[in-house]
Amino acid sequence: MSTKNHEVLIEVKNLKKHFKVGPKAILKAVDGVSFDIHKGETLGLVGESGCGKTTCGRTIMGMYGATEGEVIFDGHDVHKLNKKDKKEFSKRAQVIFQDPYASLNPRMTVGDIIAEGIDVHKLYTGEDRTKKIYELLSLVGLNKEHASRFPHEFSGGQRQRIGIARALAIEPDFIVCDEPISALDVSIQAQVVNLLIKLQNELGLTYLFIAHDLSMVKHISDRVGVMYLGNMVELAPSADLYAEPLHPYTQALLSAIPIPDPEVEKSKERIHLEGEVPSPINPKPGCKFAGRCRYAKDVCKQTTPELKEVKPGHFAACHIL
Ligand code: SF4
Repeated sequence: MSTKNHEVLIEVKNLKKHFKVGPKAILKAVDGVSFDIHKGETLGLVGESGCGKTTCGRTIMGMYGATEGEVIFDGHDVHKLNKKDKKEFSKRAQVIFQDPYASLNPRMTVGDIIAEGIDVHKLYTGEDRTKKIYELLSLVGLNKEHASRFPHEFSGGQRQRIGIARALAIEPDFIVCDEPISALDVSIQAQVVNLLIKLQNELGLTYLFIAHDLSMVKHISDRVGVMYLGNMVELAPSADLYAEPLHPYTQALLSAIPIPDPEVEKSKERIHLEGEVPSPINPKPGCKFAGRCRYAKDVCKQTTPELKEVKPGHFAACHIL
Protein backbone atom coordinates (compact mmCIF):
# COMPACT_ATOMS: atom_id res chain seq x y z
CA MET A 1 0.00 0.00 0.00
CA SER A 2 1.40 3.38 -0.86
CA THR A 3 0.83 6.57 1.06
CA LYS A 4 -2.40 7.81 -0.50
CA ASN A 5 -2.11 11.49 0.19
CA HIS A 6 0.90 13.58 1.10
CA GLU A 7 -1.09 16.27 2.89
CA VAL A 8 -0.01 16.13 6.54
CA LEU A 9 -2.74 15.76 9.17
CA ILE A 10 -0.53 15.26 12.23
CA GLU A 11 3.03 16.36 12.95
CA VAL A 12 4.70 14.86 16.00
CA LYS A 13 7.80 16.90 16.84
CA ASN A 14 10.40 15.72 19.34
CA LEU A 15 7.64 14.38 21.59
CA LYS A 16 8.66 13.33 25.11
CA LYS A 17 6.55 11.85 27.87
CA HIS A 18 8.44 11.19 31.09
CA PHE A 19 6.92 9.99 34.37
CA LYS A 20 8.53 10.62 37.77
CA VAL A 21 8.42 7.21 39.47
CA GLY A 22 10.65 7.87 42.49
CA PRO A 23 12.72 10.61 44.12
CA LYS A 24 15.46 10.21 41.49
CA ALA A 25 13.79 7.88 39.02
CA ILE A 26 12.36 9.12 35.71
CA LEU A 27 10.57 6.69 33.41
CA LYS A 28 11.23 7.94 29.88
CA ALA A 29 8.27 6.26 28.17
CA VAL A 30 8.52 8.43 25.05
CA ASP A 31 11.88 10.10 24.64
CA GLY A 32 12.03 12.40 21.63
CA VAL A 33 9.91 10.95 18.83
CA SER A 34 9.20 12.80 15.55
CA PHE A 35 7.03 11.74 12.60
CA ASP A 36 4.15 12.91 10.39
CA ILE A 37 0.90 11.17 9.58
CA HIS A 38 -0.60 11.98 6.19
CA LYS A 39 -4.30 12.39 5.50
CA GLY A 40 -5.91 9.06 4.62
CA GLU A 41 -2.89 6.91 5.49
CA THR A 42 -2.31 4.28 8.13
CA LEU A 43 0.88 4.61 10.09
CA GLY A 44 1.69 1.41 11.98
CA LEU A 45 3.56 1.83 15.27
CA VAL A 46 5.26 -1.33 16.45
CA GLY A 47 7.47 -2.49 19.30
CA GLU A 48 7.66 -4.88 22.23
CA SER A 49 5.63 -4.23 25.33
CA GLY A 50 7.09 -1.28 27.29
CA CYS A 51 8.54 0.46 24.21
CA GLY A 52 6.27 3.49 24.67
CA LYS A 53 3.95 3.04 21.69
CA THR A 54 0.71 3.23 23.69
CA THR A 55 1.97 6.22 25.72
CA CYS A 56 2.92 7.85 22.42
CA GLY A 57 -0.62 7.28 21.07
CA ARG A 58 -2.19 8.65 24.26
CA THR A 59 0.06 11.72 24.30
CA ILE A 60 -0.83 12.40 20.66
CA MET A 61 -4.51 12.24 21.66
CA GLY A 62 -3.90 14.70 24.53
CA MET A 63 -4.88 12.04 27.11
CA TYR A 64 -1.42 12.66 28.65
CA GLY A 65 0.26 16.06 28.70
CA ALA A 66 3.60 16.17 26.85
CA THR A 67 6.82 16.58 28.87
CA GLU A 68 8.37 18.24 25.82
CA GLY A 69 7.68 18.61 22.11
CA GLU A 70 4.57 19.24 20.05
CA VAL A 71 1.69 17.39 18.42
CA ILE A 72 0.30 19.54 15.61
CA PHE A 73 -3.13 18.39 14.41
CA ASP A 74 -4.33 20.23 11.32
CA GLY A 75 -2.15 23.23 12.21
CA HIS A 76 -2.90 23.41 15.97
CA ASP A 77 -0.88 22.08 18.93
CA VAL A 78 -3.08 19.49 20.65
CA HIS A 79 -1.54 20.39 24.03
CA LYS A 80 -2.28 24.10 23.76
CA LEU A 81 -5.93 24.07 22.72
CA ASN A 82 -8.52 26.24 24.44
CA LYS A 83 -11.70 24.62 25.78
CA LYS A 84 -13.70 25.11 22.56
CA ASP A 85 -10.92 23.78 20.31
CA LYS A 86 -10.34 20.86 22.67
CA LYS A 87 -13.97 19.84 22.20
CA GLU A 88 -13.60 20.16 18.42
CA PHE A 89 -10.42 18.02 18.54
CA SER A 90 -12.19 15.35 20.62
CA LYS A 91 -14.80 15.19 17.86
CA ARG A 92 -12.20 14.79 15.10
CA ALA A 93 -9.91 12.28 16.87
CA GLN A 94 -11.02 9.01 18.45
CA VAL A 95 -9.48 5.88 20.00
CA ILE A 96 -10.30 2.20 19.55
CA PHE A 97 -8.98 0.38 22.60
CA GLN A 98 -7.18 -2.93 22.89
CA ASP A 99 -9.53 -4.75 25.18
CA PRO A 100 -13.04 -5.10 23.74
CA TYR A 101 -14.09 -6.71 27.05
CA ALA A 102 -13.04 -3.91 29.40
CA SER A 103 -13.68 -0.90 27.17
CA LEU A 104 -17.49 -1.27 26.94
CA ASN A 105 -19.67 -0.38 29.94
CA PRO A 106 -21.45 -3.66 30.83
CA ARG A 107 -24.51 -1.84 32.19
CA MET A 108 -25.23 0.14 29.02
CA THR A 109 -27.03 -1.13 25.93
CA VAL A 110 -24.98 -1.31 22.74
CA GLY A 111 -27.09 1.50 21.26
CA ASP A 112 -26.31 3.83 24.18
CA ILE A 113 -22.61 2.88 24.09
CA ILE A 114 -22.41 3.74 20.39
CA ALA A 115 -24.30 6.99 20.94
CA GLU A 116 -22.07 8.24 23.82
CA GLY A 117 -20.18 10.66 21.57
CA ILE A 118 -23.37 11.66 19.74
CA ASP A 119 -24.92 12.63 23.10
CA VAL A 120 -21.81 14.46 24.38
CA HIS A 121 -21.58 16.54 21.21
CA LYS A 122 -25.41 16.82 20.89
CA LEU A 123 -25.30 15.70 17.26
CA TYR A 124 -28.61 13.84 16.97
CA THR A 125 -31.66 13.25 19.17
CA GLY A 126 -34.84 11.13 19.01
CA GLU A 127 -35.45 9.26 15.78
CA ASP A 128 -32.36 10.69 14.06
CA ARG A 129 -30.21 9.34 16.91
CA THR A 130 -31.78 5.87 16.56
CA LYS A 131 -31.35 5.99 12.77
CA LYS A 132 -27.66 6.90 13.20
CA ILE A 133 -27.13 4.01 15.65
CA TYR A 134 -28.67 1.57 13.14
CA GLU A 135 -26.52 2.99 10.33
CA LEU A 136 -23.36 2.56 12.41
CA LEU A 137 -24.28 -1.01 13.38
CA SER A 138 -24.77 -1.85 9.72
CA LEU A 139 -21.49 -0.13 8.77
CA VAL A 140 -19.54 -2.45 11.10
CA GLY A 141 -21.42 -5.60 10.05
CA LEU A 142 -23.90 -5.83 12.95
CA ASN A 143 -27.67 -5.34 12.77
CA LYS A 144 -30.24 -3.09 14.40
CA GLU A 145 -31.54 -5.80 16.76
CA HIS A 146 -28.14 -5.59 18.47
CA ALA A 147 -28.81 -2.02 19.68
CA SER A 148 -30.94 -3.10 22.65
CA ARG A 149 -28.56 -5.84 23.83
CA PHE A 150 -25.71 -5.67 26.36
CA PRO A 151 -21.95 -6.19 25.71
CA HIS A 152 -21.78 -9.58 27.50
CA GLU A 153 -24.06 -11.07 24.84
CA PHE A 154 -21.36 -10.58 22.17
CA SER A 155 -18.14 -12.33 21.15
CA GLY A 156 -14.75 -10.55 21.30
CA GLY A 157 -14.80 -9.76 17.57
CA GLN A 158 -18.35 -8.37 17.78
CA ARG A 159 -17.41 -6.25 20.81
CA GLN A 160 -14.52 -4.77 18.89
CA ARG A 161 -16.99 -3.94 16.08
CA ILE A 162 -19.11 -2.13 18.69
CA GLY A 163 -15.97 -0.22 19.81
CA ILE A 164 -15.32 0.74 16.18
CA ALA A 165 -18.95 1.90 15.71
CA ARG A 166 -18.63 4.01 18.88
CA ALA A 167 -15.44 5.63 17.53
CA LEU A 168 -17.09 6.33 14.15
CA ALA A 169 -20.29 7.79 15.64
CA ILE A 170 -19.06 11.38 15.65
CA GLU A 171 -17.50 11.09 12.19
CA PRO A 172 -13.83 11.59 13.15
CA ASP A 173 -10.95 12.17 10.71
CA PHE A 174 -8.35 10.39 12.79
CA ILE A 175 -8.45 7.21 14.86
CA VAL A 176 -5.76 5.80 17.13
CA CYS A 177 -6.23 2.03 16.96
CA ASP A 178 -4.47 0.93 20.16
CA GLU A 179 -3.74 -2.79 19.68
CA PRO A 180 -7.32 -3.32 18.47
CA ILE A 181 -6.80 -6.95 17.48
CA SER A 182 -4.31 -8.22 20.08
CA ALA A 183 -7.00 -9.57 22.41
CA LEU A 184 -8.88 -11.37 19.62
CA ASP A 185 -8.59 -14.91 18.26
CA VAL A 186 -6.32 -15.14 15.22
CA SER A 187 -9.32 -16.16 13.07
CA ILE A 188 -11.13 -12.92 13.99
CA GLN A 189 -8.11 -10.60 13.68
CA ALA A 190 -8.19 -10.52 9.86
CA GLN A 191 -11.91 -9.72 9.87
CA VAL A 192 -11.40 -6.67 12.10
CA VAL A 193 -8.38 -5.49 10.06
CA ASN A 194 -10.40 -5.89 6.83
CA LEU A 195 -13.26 -3.94 8.38
CA LEU A 196 -10.88 -1.10 9.36
CA ILE A 197 -9.44 -1.02 5.81
CA LYS A 198 -12.96 -0.97 4.28
CA LEU A 199 -14.04 1.89 6.58
CA GLN A 200 -10.89 3.84 5.77
CA ASN A 201 -11.57 3.53 2.04
CA GLU A 202 -15.22 4.50 2.45
CA LEU A 203 -14.79 7.34 4.93
CA GLY A 204 -11.27 8.64 4.17
CA LEU A 205 -10.05 7.98 7.72
CA THR A 206 -6.47 8.39 8.94
CA TYR A 207 -5.18 5.74 11.36
CA LEU A 208 -2.34 5.39 13.83
CA PHE A 209 -2.35 1.60 14.24
CA ILE A 210 -0.46 0.42 17.32
CA ALA A 211 0.63 -3.22 17.59
CA HIS A 212 3.32 -5.27 19.33
CA ASP A 213 3.95 -7.49 16.36
CA LEU A 214 5.10 -6.56 12.86
CA SER A 215 2.95 -9.23 11.22
CA MET A 216 -0.19 -7.57 12.63
CA VAL A 217 0.42 -4.20 10.96
CA LYS A 218 1.68 -5.53 7.63
CA HIS A 219 -1.64 -5.58 5.76
CA ILE A 220 -3.06 -2.33 7.03
CA SER A 221 -0.09 0.06 7.17
CA ASP A 222 1.13 2.41 4.43
CA ARG A 223 4.20 3.17 6.53
CA VAL A 224 5.52 1.53 9.68
CA GLY A 225 7.46 3.03 12.58
CA VAL A 226 9.39 0.73 14.91
CA MET A 227 9.84 1.91 18.50
CA TYR A 228 12.39 0.72 21.01
CA LEU A 229 12.51 1.97 24.59
CA GLY A 230 10.89 5.34 23.90
CA ASN A 231 12.61 6.07 20.58
CA MET A 232 11.71 5.57 16.94
CA VAL A 233 14.48 3.35 15.53
CA GLU A 234 13.14 2.86 11.99
CA LEU A 235 10.40 4.43 9.87
CA ALA A 236 9.69 3.42 6.28
CA PRO A 237 7.00 2.62 3.72
CA SER A 238 5.56 -0.73 4.69
CA ALA A 239 6.79 -2.58 1.56
CA ASP A 240 10.37 -1.30 2.04
CA LEU A 241 10.47 -2.14 5.73
CA TYR A 242 9.37 -5.73 5.20
CA ALA A 243 11.53 -6.26 2.10
CA GLU A 244 14.68 -4.66 3.51
CA PRO A 245 14.65 -3.88 7.22
CA LEU A 246 17.73 -1.76 8.01
CA HIS A 247 17.86 -1.46 11.79
CA PRO A 248 19.25 -4.50 13.66
CA TYR A 249 16.21 -4.46 16.00
CA THR A 250 13.71 -4.49 13.10
CA GLN A 251 15.73 -7.26 11.44
CA ALA A 252 15.44 -9.35 14.62
CA LEU A 253 11.69 -8.69 14.97
CA LEU A 254 11.05 -9.65 11.35
CA SER A 255 13.20 -12.76 11.50
CA ALA A 256 10.92 -14.08 14.26
CA ILE A 257 7.82 -14.04 12.03
CA PRO A 258 7.22 -17.50 10.56
CA ILE A 259 7.02 -17.70 6.73
CA PRO A 260 4.22 -19.97 5.38
CA ASP A 261 6.55 -21.59 2.77
CA PRO A 262 8.38 -24.44 4.66
CA GLU A 263 11.42 -24.31 2.30
CA VAL A 264 11.94 -20.56 2.77
CA GLU A 265 11.25 -20.90 6.49
CA LYS A 266 13.93 -23.63 6.81
CA SER A 267 16.61 -21.56 5.09
CA LYS A 268 15.78 -18.33 6.90
CA GLU A 269 18.20 -16.98 9.50
CA ARG A 270 16.46 -16.41 12.83
CA ILE A 271 18.06 -13.66 14.89
CA HIS A 272 17.58 -14.41 18.56
CA LEU A 273 17.19 -11.35 20.73
CA GLU A 274 18.87 -11.96 24.06
CA GLY A 275 17.05 -10.74 27.13
CA GLU A 276 14.08 -8.45 27.63
CA VAL A 277 13.67 -4.79 26.73
CA PRO A 278 15.71 -3.00 29.44
CA SER A 279 13.95 -0.71 31.91
CA PRO A 280 13.04 2.74 30.58
CA ILE A 281 13.79 4.19 34.05
CA ASN A 282 16.93 6.37 33.97
CA PRO A 283 18.20 4.78 30.71
CA LYS A 284 21.97 4.78 30.06
CA PRO A 285 23.41 7.09 27.39
CA GLY A 286 24.13 5.75 23.90
CA CYS A 287 22.01 3.43 21.76
CA LYS A 288 19.38 1.83 23.98
CA PHE A 289 19.55 -1.36 21.90
CA ALA A 290 23.32 -1.78 22.46
CA GLY A 291 22.93 -4.45 25.17
CA ARG A 292 21.05 -6.75 22.77
CA CYS A 293 22.65 -5.82 19.43
CA ARG A 294 25.06 -8.22 17.70
CA TYR A 295 26.72 -5.32 15.84
CA ALA A 296 27.28 -3.05 18.87
CA LYS A 297 30.57 -1.11 18.89
CA ASP A 298 32.13 1.22 21.47
CA VAL A 299 30.51 4.30 19.89
CA CYS A 300 27.05 2.72 20.38
CA LYS A 301 27.48 2.78 24.16
CA GLN A 302 28.53 6.44 24.19
CA THR A 303 26.49 8.31 21.56
CA THR A 304 22.78 8.09 20.88
CA PRO A 305 22.18 7.53 17.14
CA GLU A 306 19.80 10.03 15.49
CA LEU A 307 16.99 8.93 13.18
CA LYS A 308 18.29 9.76 9.69
CA GLU A 309 17.17 9.16 6.10
CA VAL A 310 19.23 6.21 4.91
CA LYS A 311 17.31 5.70 1.63
CA PRO A 312 14.57 7.89 0.14
CA GLY A 313 11.69 7.83 2.64
CA HIS A 314 13.44 5.15 4.75
CA PHE A 315 14.73 6.36 8.13
CA ALA A 316 16.79 4.50 10.73
CA ALA A 317 18.70 5.34 13.92
CA CYS A 318 21.89 3.31 13.92
CA HIS A 319 25.63 4.13 13.84
CA ILE A 320 26.47 1.46 11.27
CA LEU A 321 23.97 2.70 8.65
FE1 SF4 B 1 23.38 -1.81 17.19
FE2 SF4 B 1 25.04 0.25 17.47
FE3 SF4 B 1 23.13 0.31 15.60
FE4 SF4 B 1 22.52 0.50 18.18
S1 SF4 B 1 23.70 1.97 16.99
S2 SF4 B 1 21.50 -0.74 16.67
S3 SF4 B 1 24.00 -0.88 19.11
S4 SF4 B 1 24.87 -1.09 15.70
